[in-house]
Amino acid sequence: MNSFLRLSLGGLLLAGTATVVVPEDASAWSTIGGSLGLTQRDYRIYDNFTDNTCHDNTTAHSNWPEYTEVEMSAWKAGAEWGSRSFGDGTGDGSQNNVGDGGANFNFVWAGNAGNTGGFNGNIISPLGGSSGGVLAYCETPISDGWRIRFYESWTWDDGPDSVPGSRMDFQGVACHELGHALGLGHSTAGGNPTMSAYATGNGVSDRSITSDDQAGIQQGVYGAMSSSMPEITDLQGSLNSGGTLIVVGNNFSTTGNEVWFNNNGTSASGADGDPVKVTGLASTNGGTQISLTIPTSGIEGGSIHVKKSGSGNSTLSEGHPFDLDGGQPGLNTITLSGPTLVFAGGVAILDVSRATPNARVYLLYSLSNTGTTIFGHQFDLGSNWNVLSNTLVDASGVGSYSLNVPNGAAGMTVYMECGSDTGGVITDSNIHQLTVM
Ligand SMILES: [Zn+2]
Repeated sequence: MNSFLRLSLGGLLLAGTATVVVPEDASAWSTIGGSLGLTQRDYRIYDNFTDNTCHDNTTAHSNWPEYTEVEMSAWKAGAEWGSRSFGDGTGDGSQNNVGDGGANFNFVWAGNAGNTGGFNGNIISPLGGSSGGVLAYCETPISDGWRIRFYESWTWDDGPDSVPGSRMDFQGVACHELGHALGLGHSTAGGNPTMSAYATGNGVSDRSITSDDQAGIQQGVYGAMSSSMPEITDLQGSLNSGGTLIVVGNNFSTTGNEVWFNNNGTSASGADGDPVKVTGLASTNGGTQISLTIPTSGIEGGSIHVKKSGSGNSTLSEGHPFDLDGGQPGLNTITLSGPTLVFAGGVAILDVSRATPNARVYLLYSLSNTGTTIFGHQFDLGSNWNVLSNTLVDASGVGSYSLNVPNGAAGMTVYMECGSDTGGVITDSNIHQLTVM
């Protein structure tokens, strides 16, 4: 495999529909003129890729809920340009953090599209055939949208970590092309920036943007991230359709916030790429919490964003993982914590957090952790479970249990798990193992 493969902007752009601006300072990044407004932040993939190696990463990751394979690769490619870490920043073995843009800019992951869409549909898709050394290209950026095509003459790989040298890394090349979509041209800087015209090796290193790419998006297009940009640090309460979700973070407006969900539509035309917005939301606790009802239709899992009041680029937060209906087995919405060793005859305090606000949360126990179904919901406890206690959590979803440990329990290992039923929606916690001395 050659070390240098040409990446290209689309022919329409090269034909002169946009101007390449080379900055006058010593930086080597460039821009193509224009930027993506808040109505054009969505990005989707038409997964018609024929390479099996685009579809062999079937391992889910909790920071990237509900998507695997080349979809997960595309999602991470855009999230890398985000203002801050996506979720906890994990889930990519080739880089320490996903979300390094540091600018007033965030892409909005919108999942799958059903076809390639038009020039401004904001969809990534495969294209049969080849064009010399060109890997992929971005058509008609910038402000009214874009389309990205990947030549199928290359063998594309969905990762997620290393990629054999005989294949090209989808995520790294997508990160480059999405850099064009957001308004960057090619860079001549050393150090192999993602926006170099040439891929490095098979492109894995291009997944992680460099200081030159950061300078480009910050200084050349969207400005360095404002200290007032909203930030999501956690989701509490319910993740279920119709449930009460609490978005926790910073810099939310007092009133007029919006929470953006991933649209579940796949039509390439129309509004299916646009986020589903819950609008008119007030914040509490000094702009750090927004409580809302999760829509019961039209959305899917993926990511959510907070859009504060106002119209500037700095009013839209980075994306945060949102696992609708806790879709992955083993992902728990309630957190149960406490000591792992207690004395028979003593007292054990267990703490509950991230529960649905003001809900009654039951503490169940079992002597096994083989899993069982209770009221149609999958729990981690074994089938020989019993209710040990219950508590009414507060408006922040926080509560605790004080347990008198019986003398007869000495030497036992007990598994504990929370369960709650709010309006017919059952949520559960992590399993907590307690050994009695
Ligand atoms: Zn390029």
